[in-house]
Amino acid sequence: MNDMNKYLSETVKTIPPSGIRKFFDLVSQTEGVISLGVGEPDFVTPWHIREACLYSLEKGYTMYTSNSGLLELREEIAKYQKRQIGVDYSPQKEILVTVGVSEAVDIALRALIEPGDEVLIPDPSYVCYAPGAAMAYGKSVMVPTYDADEYRMRADVLESCITPKSKILILPYPNNPTGAIMEKTDLEAIAEVVRKHDLIVLSDEIYGELTYTGKHFSFASLPGMKDRTILLNGFSKAYAMTGWRIGYACGHPDIIAAMTKIHQYTIMCAPIMAQKAAIEALRNGEEQMRKMIENYNYRRKLLLNGFKQIGLECFEPRGAFYCFPSIKNTPYNSEEFCEKLLYEEQVATVPGNAFGNSGEGFIRCCYAASVSNLEEALIRIGNFLNRHR
Ligand code: PLP
Repeated sequence: MNDMNKYLSETVKTIPPSGIRKFFDLVSQTEGVISLGVGEPDFVTPWHIREACLYSLEKGYTMYTSNSGLLELREEIAKYQKRQIGVDYSPQKEILVTVGVSEAVDIALRALIEPGDEVLIPDPSYVCYAPGAAMAYGKSVMVPTYDADEYRMRADVLESCITPKSKILILPYPNNPTGAIMEKTDLEAIAEVVRKHDLIVLSDEIYGELTYTGKHFSFASLPGMKDRTILLNGFSKAYAMTGWRIGYACGHPDIIAAMTKIHQYTIMCAPIMAQKAAIEALRNGEEQMRKMIENYNYRRKLLLNGFKQIGLECFEPRGAFYCFPSIKNTPYNSEEFCEKLLYEEQVATVPGNAFGNSGEGFIRCCYAASVSNLEEALIRIGNFLNRHR
């Protein structure tokens, strides 16, 4: 039985592997690499959060929790969202604790999509949405966003992509890979389109806390939008907790109940020790989180100024921890640029087109790397550009 392909689902076979992973296989084969590639905090989870987990284990918290997650955690999430975005969510009916935002995206799409329904996704965006839609038998429709608009989604472009099959709009801002944010006025224009075409919004706000100019504004807080929005957030980025696998969804009770049904049969519940840690993060994690954000902001400015000095054009990213410079004045496309940069200068970045066709001509650089590595990467990228422009 050498070839098992005939047994595989056609849907899964048609989904391409992640362009990020493909690139990282190359990175792992190269020595002495400075990585601006992986999109994760370079901090270890703050000690008080780790300690809360250890303490919970010592006390014997090793069992399942309610499918929805510990009520204590949902209460903290409700308080947190009220503080952050001014929206009230019922801990009993409107919040579900998930295994990261990744699970929340998957089960939200599966709870909503009928075969053939269309999911509108900004291009470029994080890589999980289109495969998530495909696995739920939906069709993804990419909504181009542009460098000239600082990669905000434009209401007129969104409207031009709508068909009678359009059902869900994904709003992942601050954005991975561009670092773009949406201002309140941008979201108001999008809300008009959402209302007119009766869409449901999946607002992935995992980078909401990592907003460097002003405060993050949530789509769910616009008048009439709370019930149309499934707000997703988690602990991976803001609290440096990627490995804990903990996130959550807030939304209308009917939608949360449907998502809970899928979660119940596939996941059961998020790990109790990670939930205990998340409670501590929400209760006492603000100060450490602010320090990490200040630190990212310093490095954001360092990379941005460095790019200016070596002549790499880049709009100012105002959120997440990515810069998305243009490489259009080199002879290479995104993939060629990243491969050559890796082989010749041992700097790992990610081709912009790994996040959608609109990312072609750009590269994603994650600045959650040490200052000395960022400085060295700038020298190496500068040398590379001097040879190849
Ligand atoms: N959403 C976005 C926009 C991301 O960039 C990522 C991870 O990079 C995720 C979701 C996944 O988050 P989690 O670790 O909570 O599953």
